[in-house]
Amino acid sequence: MKNITILGAGLVGSLLASLLARKGHQVQLIEKRPDLRIKNWEDGRSINLAMSERGWQAMRAVGVEEQVKEFAIPMYGRMIHDTKGNLAFQPYGKDNQCIYAISRSLLNQTLMNEAEKHGVQLIFEHKCTSIDLQKNTLEITRITPNKAESEEKSTLQPDLIFGSDGAFSAVRSAMMKRPLFDYSQDYIEHGYKELTIPPTADGNWAIEPNALHIWPRGHFMLIALPNPDKTFTCTLFFPWTGNPSFEQLQTKEQLLHFFEETFPDILPLMPDLVEEFFSNPTSALLTVRCFPWTYKDKVALIGDAAHAIVPFFGQGMNCGFEDCVVLDEIIDQYDNDWNTILSAYEKSRKPNSDAIAELALQNFVEMRDKVADPRFLLRKKIDAHLNQLFPDQWIPLYTMISFTTIPYADALEVGKQHDAILNKIMEIEGIEDKWQTIDYQSWLGTE
Ligand code: FAD
Repeated sequence: MKNITILGAGLVGSLLASLLARKGHQVQLIEKRPDLRIKNWEDGRSINLAMSERGWQAMRAVGVEEQVKEFAIPMYGRMIHDTKGNLAFQPYGKDNQCIYAISRSLLNQTLMNEAEKHGVQLIFEHKCTSIDLQKNTLEITRITPNKAESEEKSTLQPDLIFGSDGAFSAVRSAMMKRPLFDYSQDYIEHGYKELTIPPTADGNWAIEPNALHIWPRGHFMLIALPNPDKTFTCTLFFPWTGNPSFEQLQTKEQLLHFFEETFPDILPLMPDLVEEFFSNPTSALLTVRCFPWTYKDKVALIGDAAHAIVPFFGQGMNCGFEDCVVLDEIIDQYDNDWNTILSAYEKSRKPNSDAIAELALQNFVEMRDKVADPRFLLRKKIDAHLNQLFPDQWIPLYTMISFTTIPYADALEVGKQHDAILNKIMEIEGIEDKWQTIDYQSWLGTE
């Protein structure tokens, strides 16, 4: 049995704590913010998020799938809104395949409760202020709301430290000082701002609840996901500078004019637009890549601390949850040999997190631009048609990522092969009329 400290009680840290405590380890989970179950975290970061199969696999591993399903809203496809207010529904998969909109706060609370049930000690309002990798010690400072109070510091020396402390991880910062530690962070030129569509006056959903809504506008986009209280959380992904950009929307008049021109159907649904737009934070989006993720048998990074990605495939949390599930399996395999466990964990996850980081960046272009292009939609139809004809050999990329646990790196590779074939098919003259009658078997070399 190990004495384990997990830093960061976000989604990944809370899940990991349960998994490790279930194996009989003594687990301490340290979080700088107050207890979410008593005081909501208002840090302006995605109020809701999309959970798909990799996330559900993790929920099953700690036995909370049914509990989480109670506040999960299925989304069966994308609902595309054009500039004239016309709608087009694009299903995500076949039959009833769907992803789910989940409240970040309810999910995190569920995972914290589950961790506590298994004996995890949760310590809130304590921030890790320094880490000594050689000695395996963490300095923890109690956060006092009144700065005049003297800061209380303590030092912990667990057997093992997990850094699930997010994209700006303190654990990773300590590892960066080691030789041969590779690190990069890349911001995209878009930031994001969250806005709300409330229910209608008679208490109903203002737009279709069982879809992920997208207003694709070429270089930027707005999306909306449903919440259980019949509101929608909208996210505007928009350039920081240039034309148009956050920088240019400085006054109420500029904002309303821009929305009237660009999102005419949404404006009447957002009575609080002006107030929210000028009071809600604008946040940045980045990809973090680093390696190694572990130090001896003492320290490991997990979730966003190891691999923050942009949110356009809805996979950051799902990938972090999959880290935990894979680690859990590896622990069983190597029975307490933590050198081997941590080394096998990082070797297994690094190529997969790199792959989903790449796919997430690619998917931004698909969501904000391509979904409105008729040739792209035809390509999607052919992709789905091939899946119908060859269900075992041809699985569309979106399906592999969202509805299976095929490793992300394999999905990326297969996706590239599919792309090459689809590019050739799309070059066929008159493909618009011919696509249903093509002899795909000979195209794919399938007997
Ligand atoms: P975090 O959620 O960042 O948690 C880290 C925790 O560590 C925090 O609670 C923090 O307070 C604590 N902490 C940090 N430093 C310290 C310290 N020094 N001492 C103590 N505690 C500390 N993913 C999806 O799968 N689907 C989606 O639809 C989706 N949508 C997203 C939309 C947006 C706009 C964004 C920004 C992200 C989205 N993601 C989505 C990604 C997802 O939010 C992250 O991947 C996920 O939150 C990572 O969880 P984590 O626990 O690793 O890190």
